[in-house]
Amino acid sequence: MEAKVEAEPDFLHQVQMYFDDACKLTTVRSDVLELIKRCQTVVSFTIPLKRDNGRIELIQAHRAHHSYHKMPCKGGIRYAPDVDIQEVQALATLMTIKMAVADVPFGGAKGGVRINPRAYSQAELERITRRYTIELAKKDIIGPAIDVPAPDMGTGSQTMAWMVDTYNTLYGNRDINASALVTGKPLSLGGIDGRTEATGLGVYYGINELLKTPAFCTKYGFAAGIKDKKVIVQGMGNVGYWAARFFFEAKAIIIGIVEYNSSIYNPDGINVEEAFQHFRAKGSFKGFPHAKEVYENESKAEVMYKECDILIPAACENVLTKANVGKLHAKMIAEAANGPTTYYAQQELDKKNIPVVPDFVLNSGGVTVSYFEWLKGLEHSKLGRLTKGWESQSRKDLMHLLGKEATAAEKGPEEKDIVYTALEEIMGETVRAMFEKAQAMKVSMRMAGFVIAINKIAKCYEETGFDV
Ligand code: NAD
Repeated sequence: MEAKVEAEPDFLHQVQMYFDDACKLTTVRSDVLELIKRCQTVVSFTIPLKRDNGRIELIQAHRAHHSYHKMPCKGGIRYAPDVDIQEVQALATLMTIKMAVADVPFGGAKGGVRINPRAYSQAELERITRRYTIELAKKDIIGPAIDVPAPDMGTGSQTMAWMVDTYNTLYGNRDINASALVTGKPLSLGGIDGRTEATGLGVYYGINELLKTPAFCTKYGFAAGIKDKKVIVQGMGNVGYWAARFFFEAKAIIIGIVEYNSSIYNPDGINVEEAFQHFRAKGSFKGFPHAKEVYENESKAEVMYKECDILIPAACENVLTKANVGKLHAKMIAEAANGPTTYYAQQELDKKNIPVVPDFVLNSGGVTVSYFEWLKGLEHSKLGRLTKGWESQSRKDLMHLLGKEATAAEKGPEEKDIVYTALEEIMGETVRAMFEKAQAMKVSMRMAGFVIAINKIAKCYEETGFDV
Protein backbone atom coordinates (compact mmCIF):
# COMPACT_ATOMS: atom_id res chain seq x y z
CA MET A 1 0.00 0.00 0.00
CA GLU A 2 1.33 3.47 -0.93
CA ALA A 3 2.05 5.85 1.95
CA LYS A 4 -0.60 8.57 2.34
CA VAL A 5 0.73 11.92 1.10
CA GLU A 6 -0.25 15.06 2.97
CA ALA A 7 -2.47 17.39 0.89
CA GLU A 8 -0.75 20.44 -0.57
CA PRO A 9 -2.15 23.98 -0.49
CA ASP A 10 -4.58 24.95 -3.26
CA PHE A 11 -3.36 26.55 -6.50
CA LEU A 12 -3.96 30.16 -5.41
CA HIS A 13 -2.05 29.65 -2.17
CA GLN A 14 0.84 28.04 -4.00
CA VAL A 15 1.10 31.00 -6.39
CA GLN A 16 0.98 33.33 -3.40
CA MET A 17 3.69 31.32 -1.62
CA TYR A 18 5.96 31.77 -4.64
CA PHE A 19 5.01 35.44 -4.69
CA ASP A 20 5.81 35.89 -0.99
CA ASP A 21 9.20 34.21 -1.41
CA ALA A 22 10.02 36.52 -4.31
CA CYS A 23 8.94 39.59 -2.31
CA LYS A 24 11.74 38.87 0.16
CA LEU A 25 14.20 39.28 -2.71
CA THR A 26 12.95 42.77 -3.62
CA THR A 27 13.15 46.15 -1.89
CA VAL A 28 9.56 47.08 -2.79
CA ARG A 29 7.41 48.56 0.04
CA SER A 30 5.29 45.97 1.80
CA ASP A 31 2.02 47.85 1.18
CA VAL A 32 2.74 47.99 -2.55
CA LEU A 33 3.58 44.29 -2.52
CA GLU A 34 0.21 43.59 -0.91
CA LEU A 35 -1.50 45.65 -3.62
CA ILE A 36 0.30 43.70 -6.35
CA LYS A 37 -0.55 40.37 -4.75
CA ARG A 38 -4.34 40.69 -4.56
CA CYS A 39 -6.93 40.21 -7.30
CA GLN A 40 -8.61 43.58 -7.86
CA THR A 41 -11.99 42.33 -9.08
CA VAL A 42 -13.51 38.86 -8.78
CA VAL A 43 -16.94 38.08 -10.19
CA SER A 44 -18.92 34.83 -9.95
CA PHE A 45 -22.34 34.18 -11.39
CA THR A 46 -24.70 31.46 -12.57
CA ILE A 47 -25.59 30.72 -16.17
CA PRO A 48 -28.94 29.02 -16.72
CA LEU A 49 -28.44 26.67 -19.68
CA LYS A 50 -31.36 25.21 -21.60
CA ARG A 51 -30.04 21.78 -22.54
CA ASP A 52 -30.91 20.12 -25.83
CA ASN A 53 -33.41 17.91 -23.96
CA GLY A 54 -35.23 20.99 -22.62
CA ARG A 55 -34.03 20.74 -19.02
CA ILE A 56 -32.49 23.79 -17.34
CA GLU A 57 -29.03 23.34 -15.87
CA LEU A 58 -27.29 25.91 -13.66
CA ILE A 59 -23.64 26.50 -14.47
CA GLN A 60 -21.07 28.32 -12.30
CA ALA A 61 -18.97 30.95 -14.09
CA HIS A 62 -16.19 33.30 -12.97
CA ARG A 63 -13.96 36.12 -14.16
CA ALA A 64 -11.11 37.71 -12.20
CA HIS A 65 -9.13 40.86 -12.95
CA HIS A 66 -5.89 40.56 -11.06
CA SER A 67 -4.25 43.88 -11.84
CA TYR A 68 -5.07 47.30 -13.29
CA HIS A 69 -1.50 48.61 -13.39
CA LYS A 70 -1.87 48.37 -17.19
CA MET A 71 -5.13 48.36 -19.11
CA PRO A 72 -6.90 46.48 -20.55
CA CYS A 73 -6.72 43.27 -18.54
CA LYS A 74 -6.11 40.08 -20.42
CA GLY A 75 -6.40 36.36 -19.84
CA GLY A 76 -7.92 33.13 -21.11
CA ILE A 77 -11.25 31.49 -20.45
CA ARG A 78 -11.23 27.91 -19.30
CA TYR A 79 -14.04 25.36 -19.62
CA ALA A 80 -13.26 22.52 -17.20
CA PRO A 81 -15.23 20.47 -14.66
CA ASP A 82 -13.11 21.47 -11.66
CA VAL A 83 -12.86 25.22 -12.30
CA ASP A 84 -13.38 27.24 -9.13
CA ILE A 85 -12.79 30.76 -7.95
CA GLN A 86 -9.40 30.16 -6.32
CA GLU A 87 -8.11 28.55 -9.53
CA VAL A 88 -9.32 31.49 -11.61
CA GLN A 89 -7.61 33.93 -9.24
CA ALA A 90 -4.37 31.93 -9.31
CA LEU A 91 -4.38 31.93 -13.10
CA ALA A 92 -5.18 35.67 -13.23
CA THR A 93 -2.23 36.35 -10.91
CA LEU A 94 0.08 34.32 -13.12
CA MET A 95 -1.16 36.31 -16.13
CA THR A 96 -0.07 39.58 -14.50
CA ILE A 97 3.37 38.14 -13.73
CA LYS A 98 3.65 36.62 -17.22
CA MET A 99 2.84 39.80 -19.07
CA ALA A 100 5.06 41.95 -16.87
CA VAL A 101 8.07 39.72 -17.51
CA ALA A 102 7.48 39.70 -21.28
CA ASP A 103 6.60 43.43 -21.44
CA VAL A 104 3.12 42.75 -22.80
CA PRO A 105 1.29 45.88 -21.61
CA PHE A 106 -1.82 44.41 -19.96
CA GLY A 107 -2.99 43.58 -16.45
CA GLY A 108 -3.73 39.91 -15.71
CA ALA A 109 -7.19 38.34 -15.87
CA LYS A 110 -8.73 34.89 -16.17
CA GLY A 111 -12.15 33.33 -16.59
CA GLY A 112 -13.62 29.93 -15.97
CA VAL A 113 -16.84 28.07 -16.61
CA ARG A 114 -17.36 24.93 -14.56
CA ILE A 115 -18.30 22.37 -17.20
CA ASN A 116 -16.77 19.38 -18.90
CA PRO A 117 -17.00 20.60 -22.50
CA ARG A 118 -16.97 17.02 -23.77
CA ALA A 119 -20.36 16.50 -22.10
CA TYR A 120 -22.17 19.22 -24.10
CA SER A 121 -23.29 19.53 -27.73
CA GLN A 122 -21.93 22.32 -29.94
CA ALA A 123 -25.29 24.09 -29.71
CA GLU A 124 -25.18 23.93 -25.90
CA LEU A 125 -21.59 25.21 -25.80
CA GLU A 126 -22.64 28.09 -28.03
CA ARG A 127 -25.52 28.99 -25.70
CA ILE A 128 -23.21 28.83 -22.65
CA THR A 129 -20.61 31.03 -24.34
CA ARG A 130 -23.07 33.64 -25.57
CA ARG A 131 -24.72 33.87 -22.15
CA TYR A 132 -21.33 34.08 -20.41
CA THR A 133 -20.40 36.96 -22.73
CA ILE A 134 -23.68 38.79 -22.14
CA GLU A 135 -23.30 38.48 -18.35
CA LEU A 136 -19.74 39.86 -18.48
CA ALA A 137 -20.79 42.67 -20.82
CA LYS A 138 -23.78 43.58 -18.62
CA LYS A 139 -21.42 43.93 -15.67
CA ASP A 140 -19.16 46.08 -17.85
CA ILE A 141 -16.12 43.94 -17.13
CA ILE A 142 -15.15 42.94 -20.66
CA GLY A 143 -14.42 45.10 -23.68
CA PRO A 144 -11.49 45.93 -25.94
CA ALA A 145 -10.33 48.62 -23.46
CA ILE A 146 -11.38 46.80 -20.26
CA ASP A 147 -10.62 43.10 -20.43
CA VAL A 148 -9.76 41.03 -23.49
CA PRO A 149 -10.33 37.26 -23.10
CA ALA A 150 -8.64 34.48 -25.09
CA PRO A 151 -8.86 30.68 -25.32
CA ASP A 152 -7.51 28.35 -22.65
CA MET A 153 -8.26 24.74 -21.67
CA GLY A 154 -11.46 23.47 -23.23
CA THR A 155 -12.01 26.59 -25.36
CA GLY A 156 -10.69 27.62 -28.77
CA SER A 157 -11.20 29.86 -31.77
CA GLN A 158 -14.86 28.76 -32.10
CA THR A 159 -15.54 29.94 -28.52
CA MET A 160 -13.90 33.28 -29.32
CA ALA A 161 -15.98 33.60 -32.52
CA TRP A 162 -19.21 33.22 -30.51
CA MET A 163 -17.97 35.72 -27.93
CA VAL A 164 -17.00 38.38 -30.44
CA ASP A 165 -20.23 37.91 -32.40
CA THR A 166 -22.30 38.31 -29.22
CA TYR A 167 -20.39 41.44 -28.22
CA ASN A 168 -20.63 42.87 -31.74
CA THR A 169 -24.38 42.33 -31.68
CA LEU A 170 -24.57 44.33 -28.45
CA TYR A 171 -22.02 47.09 -29.11
CA GLY A 172 -20.69 46.86 -32.68
CA ASN A 173 -22.90 49.72 -33.84
CA ARG A 174 -21.19 52.21 -31.51
CA ASP A 175 -17.77 50.74 -30.85
CA ILE A 176 -15.69 50.53 -34.00
CA ASN A 177 -13.14 48.42 -32.08
CA ALA A 178 -15.69 45.89 -30.83
CA SER A 179 -13.96 43.07 -32.73
CA ALA A 180 -10.84 43.55 -30.59
CA LEU A 181 -12.89 42.15 -27.68
CA VAL A 182 -11.10 38.80 -27.72
CA THR A 183 -7.99 37.26 -29.19
CA GLY A 184 -7.55 33.77 -30.57
CA LYS A 185 -10.37 34.45 -33.07
CA PRO A 186 -10.62 32.64 -36.41
CA LEU A 187 -8.73 34.44 -39.19
CA SER A 188 -11.99 35.32 -40.96
CA LEU A 189 -13.10 37.31 -37.89
CA GLY A 190 -9.87 39.28 -37.41
CA GLY A 191 -7.66 36.61 -35.86
CA ILE A 192 -3.95 36.59 -36.54
CA ASP A 193 -1.98 34.03 -38.49
CA GLY A 194 0.17 32.14 -35.99
CA ARG A 195 -1.98 32.53 -32.84
CA THR A 196 -3.20 28.90 -32.81
CA GLU A 197 0.31 27.50 -32.49
CA ALA A 198 1.82 30.50 -30.62
CA THR A 199 1.96 29.01 -27.11
CA GLY A 200 3.56 25.76 -28.27
CA LEU A 201 5.90 27.66 -30.58
CA GLY A 202 6.91 29.93 -27.70
CA VAL A 203 7.68 26.87 -25.56
CA TYR A 204 9.95 25.64 -28.33
CA TYR A 205 11.64 29.04 -28.79
CA GLY A 206 12.15 29.38 -25.03
CA ILE A 207 13.81 25.99 -24.56
CA ASN A 208 15.82 26.46 -27.74
CA GLU A 209 17.15 29.72 -26.31
CA LEU A 210 18.21 28.06 -23.05
CA LEU A 211 19.87 25.17 -24.87
CA LYS A 212 21.85 27.70 -26.90
CA THR A 213 23.09 29.34 -23.70
CA PRO A 214 26.47 27.88 -22.63
CA ALA A 215 26.02 28.87 -18.97
CA PHE A 216 22.69 27.00 -18.83
CA CYS A 217 24.05 23.88 -20.52
CA THR A 218 27.09 23.79 -18.24
CA LYS A 219 25.09 24.40 -15.08
CA TYR A 220 22.61 21.61 -15.78
CA GLY A 221 24.76 19.22 -17.81
CA PHE A 222 23.12 19.47 -21.23
CA ALA A 223 24.71 19.16 -24.67
CA ALA A 224 23.78 22.27 -26.69
CA GLY A 225 20.74 22.23 -28.99
CA ILE A 226 17.31 20.61 -29.29
CA LYS A 227 18.38 17.88 -31.73
CA ASP A 228 18.28 14.35 -30.24
CA LYS A 229 16.91 15.53 -26.91
CA LYS A 230 14.48 12.94 -25.54
CA VAL A 231 11.16 14.60 -24.81
CA ILE A 232 7.96 13.52 -23.02
CA VAL A 233 4.82 15.63 -23.39
CA GLN A 234 1.73 15.56 -21.19
CA GLY A 235 -1.41 16.84 -22.97
CA MET A 236 -2.17 16.69 -26.70
CA GLY A 237 -4.38 19.76 -26.71
CA ASN A 238 -3.53 23.07 -28.30
CA VAL A 239 -0.34 23.75 -26.34
CA GLY A 240 0.98 20.18 -26.07
CA TYR A 241 0.37 19.27 -29.69
CA TRP A 242 2.06 22.34 -31.10
CA ALA A 243 4.98 22.22 -28.67
CA ALA A 244 5.54 18.54 -29.50
CA ARG A 245 5.31 19.29 -33.22
CA PHE A 246 7.92 22.05 -33.12
CA PHE A 247 10.31 19.89 -31.04
CA PHE A 248 9.72 16.99 -33.45
CA GLU A 249 10.42 19.20 -36.47
CA ALA A 250 13.66 20.35 -34.80
CA LYS A 251 14.70 16.67 -34.57
CA ALA A 252 14.09 16.11 -30.89
CA ILE A 253 12.95 12.54 -30.16
CA ILE A 254 9.44 12.50 -28.73
CA ILE A 255 9.57 9.31 -26.65
CA GLY A 256 6.33 9.68 -24.69
CA ILE A 257 2.92 11.33 -24.86
CA VAL A 258 0.47 11.32 -21.96
CA GLU A 259 -3.23 12.12 -22.16
CA TYR A 260 -5.97 12.12 -19.53
CA ASN A 261 -7.05 8.55 -20.33
CA SER A 262 -4.03 6.89 -21.95
CA SER A 263 -0.36 7.30 -22.84
CA ILE A 264 2.24 5.98 -25.27
CA TYR A 265 5.96 5.33 -25.06
CA ASN A 266 8.56 4.53 -27.68
CA PRO A 267 12.28 5.11 -26.93
CA ASP A 268 12.97 5.27 -30.69
CA GLY A 269 10.60 8.20 -31.12
CA ILE A 270 6.95 8.86 -31.93
CA ASN A 271 5.70 10.71 -34.98
CA VAL A 272 3.69 13.51 -33.33
CA GLU A 273 1.25 14.00 -36.18
CA GLU A 274 0.41 10.28 -36.35
CA ALA A 275 -0.12 10.14 -32.59
CA PHE A 276 -2.24 13.30 -32.60
CA GLN A 277 -4.45 12.08 -35.47
CA HIS A 278 -4.92 8.71 -33.75
CA PHE A 279 -5.92 10.40 -30.48
CA ARG A 280 -8.32 12.73 -32.28
CA ALA A 281 -9.97 9.96 -34.22
CA LYS A 282 -10.27 7.40 -31.38
CA GLY A 283 -10.33 9.63 -28.28
CA SER A 284 -7.52 7.50 -26.81
CA PHE A 285 -4.05 6.16 -27.64
CA LYS A 286 -5.40 2.62 -27.32
CA GLY A 287 -4.36 0.65 -30.41
CA PHE A 288 -1.75 3.18 -31.57
CA PRO A 289 0.41 0.92 -33.74
CA HIS A 290 3.74 2.77 -33.47
CA ALA A 291 4.16 2.69 -29.69
CA LYS A 292 6.30 0.14 -27.82
CA GLU A 293 4.13 0.58 -24.73
CA VAL A 294 0.55 1.81 -24.36
CA TYR A 295 -0.93 2.59 -20.96
CA GLU A 296 -4.54 3.23 -20.06
CA ASN A 297 -6.48 4.74 -17.19
CA GLU A 298 -4.70 4.68 -13.82
CA SER A 299 -1.31 3.58 -15.22
CA LYS A 300 -1.22 6.32 -17.88
CA ALA A 301 1.11 8.51 -15.76
CA GLU A 302 3.85 5.84 -15.90
CA VAL A 303 5.18 7.42 -19.09
CA MET A 304 5.82 10.70 -17.28
CA TYR A 305 8.27 8.95 -14.97
CA LYS A 306 10.46 7.55 -17.75
CA GLU A 307 13.97 8.86 -18.24
CA CYS A 308 14.08 11.86 -20.58
CA ASP A 309 15.91 15.14 -21.18
CA ILE A 310 12.83 17.36 -21.20
CA LEU A 311 9.44 16.73 -19.62
CA ILE A 312 6.81 19.12 -20.96
CA PRO A 313 3.66 19.19 -18.81
CA ALA A 314 1.16 20.85 -21.17
CA ALA A 315 -2.19 19.81 -19.69
CA CYS A 316 -3.19 21.29 -16.34
CA GLU A 317 -2.00 22.35 -12.89
CA ASN A 318 -0.85 20.20 -9.94
CA VAL A 319 0.77 17.52 -12.05
CA LEU A 320 4.21 17.30 -10.43
CA THR A 321 3.46 17.06 -6.74
CA LYS A 322 4.67 15.80 -3.40
CA ALA A 323 3.20 12.43 -4.34
CA ASN A 324 5.15 11.86 -7.54
CA VAL A 325 8.16 14.21 -7.71
CA GLY A 326 10.39 11.44 -6.38
CA LYS A 327 9.45 9.24 -9.35
CA LEU A 328 10.59 11.68 -12.04
CA HIS A 329 13.59 10.89 -14.22
CA ALA A 330 13.56 14.05 -16.32
CA LYS A 331 16.61 16.31 -16.60
CA MET A 332 14.51 19.44 -17.17
CA ILE A 333 10.89 20.46 -16.62
CA ALA A 334 9.53 22.78 -19.31
CA GLU A 335 6.25 24.14 -17.93
CA ALA A 336 3.95 24.64 -20.91
CA ALA A 337 0.80 24.37 -18.77
CA ASN A 338 -0.01 26.85 -16.01
CA GLY A 339 0.93 25.68 -12.53
CA PRO A 340 1.96 22.07 -13.24
CA THR A 341 4.64 22.02 -10.51
CA THR A 342 3.57 22.42 -6.90
CA TYR A 343 5.55 24.54 -4.47
CA TYR A 344 6.77 21.42 -2.72
CA ALA A 345 7.80 19.69 -5.97
CA GLN A 346 9.71 22.80 -7.09
CA GLN A 347 11.75 22.70 -3.88
CA GLU A 348 12.58 19.04 -4.39
CA LEU A 349 13.61 19.66 -8.00
CA ASP A 350 15.78 22.62 -6.91
CA LYS A 351 17.61 20.34 -4.46
CA LYS A 352 18.38 17.93 -7.29
CA ASN A 353 19.59 20.73 -9.61
CA ILE A 354 16.82 19.93 -12.11
CA PRO A 355 15.85 23.17 -13.88
CA VAL A 356 12.17 24.09 -13.96
CA VAL A 357 11.46 26.63 -16.69
CA PRO A 358 8.44 28.40 -15.20
CA ASP A 359 5.01 28.54 -16.82
CA PHE A 360 4.66 32.32 -16.78
CA VAL A 361 7.77 32.70 -18.93
CA LEU A 362 7.64 29.58 -21.07
CA ASN A 363 3.98 29.68 -22.09
CA SER A 364 3.89 33.45 -22.65
CA GLY A 365 3.98 32.99 -26.45
CA GLY A 366 0.19 32.74 -26.55
CA VAL A 367 -0.48 36.04 -24.86
CA THR A 368 2.36 37.72 -26.73
CA VAL A 369 0.78 36.85 -30.08
CA SER A 370 -2.62 37.73 -28.61
CA TYR A 371 -1.17 41.19 -28.00
CA PHE A 372 -0.24 41.37 -31.69
CA GLU A 373 -3.80 40.32 -32.54
CA TRP A 374 -5.29 42.99 -30.30
CA LEU A 375 -3.09 45.61 -32.00
CA LYS A 376 -4.23 44.26 -35.38
CA GLY A 377 -7.84 44.66 -34.25
CA LEU A 378 -7.29 48.30 -33.34
CA GLU A 379 -5.40 48.91 -36.61
CA HIS A 380 -8.14 47.22 -38.65
CA SER A 381 -5.41 45.94 -40.93
CA LYS A 382 -3.43 42.76 -41.43
CA LEU A 383 0.13 43.01 -40.06
CA GLY A 384 2.56 44.30 -42.67
CA ARG A 385 -0.15 44.99 -45.26
CA LEU A 386 0.82 48.61 -45.87
CA THR A 387 4.57 47.99 -46.05
CA LYS A 388 4.74 44.61 -47.81
CA GLY A 389 4.97 46.04 -51.35
CA TRP A 390 7.55 48.63 -50.29
CA GLU A 391 9.71 46.00 -48.58
CA SER A 392 9.46 43.70 -51.56
CA GLN A 393 10.51 46.48 -53.93
CA SER A 394 13.39 47.55 -51.64
CA ARG A 395 14.74 43.98 -51.55
CA LYS A 396 14.49 43.69 -55.34
CA ASP A 397 16.31 47.04 -55.72
CA LEU A 398 19.03 45.82 -53.36
CA MET A 399 19.47 42.59 -55.33
CA HIS A 400 19.61 44.65 -58.53
CA LEU A 401 22.33 46.87 -57.03
CA LEU A 402 24.27 43.75 -56.03
CA GLY A 403 23.90 42.54 -59.62
CA LYS A 404 21.87 39.52 -58.53
CA GLU A 405 18.64 38.06 -59.85
CA ALA A 406 15.63 38.76 -57.59
CA THR A 407 13.95 35.55 -56.39
CA ALA A 408 10.61 34.75 -54.77
CA ALA A 409 12.38 35.15 -51.41
CA GLU A 410 12.54 38.88 -52.07
CA LYS A 411 8.83 39.26 -51.43
CA GLY A 412 7.79 41.23 -48.37
CA PRO A 413 6.85 39.33 -45.20
CA GLU A 414 3.53 37.56 -44.70
CA GLU A 415 1.68 38.15 -41.43
CA LYS A 416 2.89 34.79 -40.13
CA ASP A 417 6.54 35.70 -40.86
CA ILE A 418 6.15 38.85 -38.75
CA VAL A 419 4.45 36.94 -35.94
CA TYR A 420 7.04 34.15 -35.83
CA THR A 421 10.09 36.43 -35.92
CA ALA A 422 8.66 38.84 -33.36
CA LEU A 423 7.74 35.96 -31.07
CA GLU A 424 11.18 34.37 -31.36
CA GLU A 425 12.79 37.70 -30.51
CA ILE A 426 10.55 38.33 -27.49
CA MET A 427 10.78 34.77 -26.13
CA GLY A 428 14.57 34.90 -26.51
CA GLU A 429 14.82 38.23 -24.68
CA THR A 430 12.47 37.14 -21.89
CA VAL A 431 14.17 33.82 -21.27
CA ARG A 432 17.65 35.38 -21.34
CA ALA A 433 16.61 38.08 -18.85
CA MET A 434 15.13 35.44 -16.52
CA PHE A 435 18.15 33.14 -16.69
CA GLU A 436 20.65 35.98 -16.19
CA LYS A 437 18.71 37.22 -13.17
CA ALA A 438 18.58 33.69 -11.73
CA GLN A 439 22.34 33.39 -12.17
CA ALA A 440 23.04 36.81 -10.67
CA MET A 441 20.77 36.24 -7.65
CA LYS A 442 21.57 32.53 -7.30
CA VAL A 443 17.87 31.63 -7.24
CA SER A 444 15.57 29.43 -9.33
CA MET A 445 14.34 30.72 -12.69
CA ARG A 446 10.84 30.95 -11.19
CA MET A 447 12.02 33.24 -8.39
CA ALA A 448 14.01 35.33 -10.88
CA GLY A 449 10.94 35.76 -13.08
CA PHE A 450 8.75 36.77 -10.14
CA VAL A 451 11.32 39.33 -9.00
CA ILE A 452 11.57 40.86 -12.50
CA ALA A 453 7.77 41.12 -12.69
CA ILE A 454 7.26 42.51 -9.19
CA ASN A 455 9.90 45.19 -9.72
CA LYS A 456 8.34 46.30 -13.02
CA ILE A 457 4.78 46.42 -11.62
CA ALA A 458 5.90 48.26 -8.47
CA LYS A 459 7.73 50.85 -10.60
CA CYS A 460 4.61 51.35 -12.67
CA TYR A 461 2.46 51.93 -9.54
CA GLU A 462 5.04 54.16 -7.88
CA GLU A 463 5.52 56.35 -10.94
CA THR A 464 1.74 56.69 -11.29
CA GLY A 465 1.22 57.52 -7.61
CA PHE A 466 -1.60 56.23 -5.44
CA ASP A 467 -4.00 59.20 -5.34
CA VAL A 468 -7.33 58.77 -7.10
P1 NAD B 1 -6.58 22.09 -24.30
O1 NAD B 1 -7.91 21.92 -23.69
O2 NAD B 1 -6.47 22.40 -25.74
O3 NAD B 1 -5.68 20.81 -24.05
C1 NAD B 1 -5.46 20.22 -22.80
C2 NAD B 1 -5.15 18.76 -23.07
O4 NAD B 1 -4.70 18.16 -21.86
C3 NAD B 1 -6.38 17.98 -23.54
O5 NAD B 1 -6.05 17.19 -24.66
C4 NAD B 1 -6.76 17.16 -22.31
O6 NAD B 1 -7.38 15.92 -22.65
C5 NAD B 1 -5.40 16.94 -21.67
N1 NAD B 1 -5.49 16.65 -20.25
C6 NAD B 1 -6.32 17.19 -19.32
N2 NAD B 1 -6.08 16.67 -18.12
C7 NAD B 1 -5.05 15.79 -18.27
C8 NAD B 1 -4.36 14.93 -17.40
N3 NAD B 1 -4.66 14.87 -16.10
N4 NAD B 1 -3.36 14.16 -17.91
C9 NAD B 1 -3.05 14.22 -19.21
N5 NAD B 1 -3.68 15.01 -20.09
C10 NAD B 1 -4.67 15.78 -19.63
O7 NAD B 1 -5.84 23.20 -23.41
P2 NAD B 1 -4.59 24.07 -23.81
O8 NAD B 1 -5.08 25.35 -24.34
O9 NAD B 1 -3.63 23.25 -24.58
O10 NAD B 1 -4.00 24.40 -22.35
C11 NAD B 1 -3.15 23.49 -21.67
C12 NAD B 1 -2.44 24.21 -20.55
O11 NAD B 1 -1.70 25.31 -21.10
C13 NAD B 1 -3.34 24.84 -19.49
O12 NAD B 1 -2.68 24.82 -18.25
C14 NAD B 1 -3.49 26.28 -19.96
O13 NAD B 1 -3.83 27.16 -18.91
C15 NAD B 1 -2.09 26.52 -20.48
N6 NAD B 1 -1.97 27.62 -21.44
C16 NAD B 1 -2.70 27.63 -22.59
C17 NAD B 1 -2.52 28.66 -23.50
C18 NAD B 1 -3.23 28.70 -24.84
O14 NAD B 1 -2.89 29.57 -25.65
N7 NAD B 1 -4.14 27.81 -25.13
C19 NAD B 1 -1.64 29.71 -23.21
C20 NAD B 1 -0.90 29.67 -22.03
C21 NAD B 1 -1.08 28.61 -21.15
